[in-house]
Amino acid sequence: MATHKLLILPGDGIGPEVMAEVEKVVAWFGRQGVAAFETERGLVGGSAYDAHGEAISNGDMALAQAADAVLFGAVGGPKWADVPYSKRPEAGLLRLRKDLGLFANLRPAICFPALAAASSLKPEVVEGLDILIVRELTGGVYFGEPKEIVTLEDGQQRGIDTQVYTTSEIERITRVAFELARTRRNKVSSAEKHNVMKTGVLWKQVVTRIHKAEFADMELEHVLADNCAMQLVRWPKQYDVIVCDNLFGDILSDVAAMLTGSLGMLPSASLGAEDPATGKRKALYEPVHGSAPDIAGKGAANPIATISSFSMALRYSFKAIEAADMLDKAVTNVLASGLRTADIRSDNTHVVGTAGMGDAIVKELQHLAG
Ligand code: NAD
Repeated sequence: MATHKLLILPGDGIGPEVMAEVEKVVAWFGRQGVAAFETERGLVGGSAYDAHGEAISNGDMALAQAADAVLFGAVGGPKWADVPYSKRPEAGLLRLRKDLGLFANLRPAICFPALAAASSLKPEVVEGLDILIVRELTGGVYFGEPKEIVTLEDGQQRGIDTQVYTTSEIERITRVAFELARTRRNKVSSAEKHNVMKTGVLWKQVVTRIHKAEFADMELEHVLADNCAMQLVRWPKQYDVIVCDNLFGDILSDVAAMLTGSLGMLPSASLGAEDPATGKRKALYEPVHGSAPDIAGKGAANPIATISSFSMALRYSFKAIEAADMLDKAVTNVLASGLRTADIRSDNTHVVGTAGMGDAIVKELQHLAG
């Protein structure tokens, strides 16, 4: 039986509450013999600052480097509003992303049938939706130099951001997108703006070349990023995997995610380069939402985003596809049975707390296992 090293970083606010439910799910899969999970726990964000004076300690960073997957809750809150900038809670997440070299951000947009009516779009547009946005996370205009505000001779100021991409940065994110599409519906849509941007021209050339050389049996389409935003709202089910740069990915993934309703439902993954010796990638899995200080401590948070993030870990880090499918099915069934946390409540549903939702999902797993 495979052994997987998990580092659990619950963080702040509702982070520990939702992560406690994930730990029930991890324990269940461990008991089922799907894999042996060696679990370590660490601190990140404000809780790490309180304990170590840093948003993540070197010791916990070493554990993250050694882990097969990091499960991250959420960080931040009013308590740490005045800590020095370099030690603010978010610095822990940024260090993890940087030191682990997590260049590929995966944001699925899945619409559970039971929640289709909660979307701001018509149910027929979103029902059954299952798309994946693959965003380049460590390059592009957020990091390119020069990045500055300068004062001109006439007294005006000029702000400059620089959009830069190299061939190798585009190649590696393209490969991730095609490899993921191979586990799904074999289609990649590459979004850029080659009509007005040089990085877009290069992006399109490189994606086309990698497709032809390595993934010619799969479908590739190119779409201008602005059109992609429009299409996502018009008929999102035309897509399978969308690959794009950091800036477009930031925007398109938020559009796609919100097609499906509450923040409490949205998982994500960030992957690093493949280790040629082991074939493994560094990986961090986290809900899209933050620490929700307004509901922290009330036992009311929706744990599904974090539980679904563990499903992504099963799928992408541990290649336990059947287990991931089973967990997704358990979530679908529990929602179909009418159980809801407060954030996704609607008429004729039964509202439960964080632990109630976690327990129901574990119970449904047990039921599915027979
Ligand atoms: P948030 O995502 O924490 O909350 C936004 C709203 O959504 C709140 O009303 C909250 O109650 C609700 N919500 C979020 N997750 C939920 C869940 N699982 N179940 C039910 N309701 C949920 O965003 P915010 O309020 O802008 O930020 C709060 C703190 O979180 C800030 O300190 C911010 O910096 C931090 N933050 C952290 C991350 C991260 O850790 N990756 C991401 C975003 C924000």
